[in-house]
Amino acid sequence: AVNLGLPPVRRSRRVSRQVMVGDVPVGGDAPVSVQSMTTTQTADVNATLQQIAELTAAGCQIVRVAVPTQDDADALPAIAAKSQLPMIADIHFQPRYVFAAIEAGCAAVRVNPGNIKKFDDKVGEIARAAADCGVPIRIGVNAGSLDPRLLEKHGKATPEALVESALWECSLFEEHGFQELKISVKHHDPQVMVAAYRLLARSCDYPLHLGVTEAGPLMQGTIKSAVAFGVLLDEGIGDTIRVSLSAPPVEEVKVGLGILESLGLRQRRLEIVSCPSCGRAQVDVYTLADRVTAALDGFPYPLRVAVMGCVVNGPGEAREADLGVASGNGKGQIFVKGKVVKTVPESQIVETLVEEAMRIAEEQEAA
Ligand code: SF4
Repeated sequence: AVNLGLPPVRRSRRVSRQVMVGDVPVGGDAPVSVQSMTTTQTADVNATLQQIAELTAAGCQIVRVAVPTQDDADALPAIAAKSQLPMIADIHFQPRYVFAAIEAGCAAVRVNPGNIKKFDDKVGEIARAAADCGVPIRIGVNAGSLDPRLLEKHGKATPEALVESALWECSLFEEHGFQELKISVKHHDPQVMVAAYRLLARSCDYPLHLGVTEAGPLMQGTIKSAVAFGVLLDEGIGDTIRVSLSAPPVEEVKVGLGILESLGLRQRRLEIVSCPSCGRAQVDVYTLADRVTAALDGFPYPLRVAVMGCVVNGPGEAREADLGVASGNGKGQIFVKGKVVKTVPESQIVETLVEEAMRIAEEQEAA
């Protein structure tokens, strides 16, 4: 056999302990979960709940809210009571907000005990309160806020510096017998981030929250996150993901779900197999693909739909899909499960595909 020296298709998943974020297991053999963070003022309860509802509808599984002020901490009970998603309170420096979050019924807290130790040594009390309520804690190390001590030691936010910081933060809780932890070591550079998580994965068995921090606007952030998460998840590293975008949080969830679907870590719902178009195209493929995507958005079952611009490669691809169209001469040949079921004028392609999709949905429901 020819040995191309390629790595195995998928390495086995890293063995990690499991924590529960509300009813969502993170780590162990739990599916990789998708999370995001609200952008509202947390103290604005209605706006925050509205955004959580949008995130829920988009498929988000865990939501994080920032708690920078007493007003935000005061809003936590009302939000936690109505949130459809387990909620993580994100807290810096203020131990009293941590206690408020635990009391409010938050499913987890993101706090770095190193920050708290500097100001007020309440780490033991936090550990006890969290343990009593079954609340896990995420240690979140970011390149931008790395401990000055470690910056000086390592010269900059190297993978080693990020991991040393995270493990030190963990040790502050471990001293109090608390190990319900998950960790992130985020960096804006995917290569540094990947190296940091690889090192961290070898150094402990805590579940890992993957993130490329400050990844940028939608396009750049999607690319950076997809590359970094793809590499790590393919190596079996990573238990929950947050895509950070300078874009509405619903976009983060869509990208996160898309990454997991592309890696085969989550069942795909709607997959549009559309051609890039070329000089042979006899239809505006971009517009047609967008219209088909919009018309079938939210389809409740896995569905692969081929949208092809001509009859050269079109019929072949369309046949491989659940549903497809190959365009030519102002018409669309509609395929269902590999068979041409009809040929319709170009103006009726989208509505015909939707009709056929609905028929597939009815069959699924009856099955
Ligand atoms: Fe070009 Fe036809 Fe292939 Fe689309 S399907 S890229 S139009 S050859």
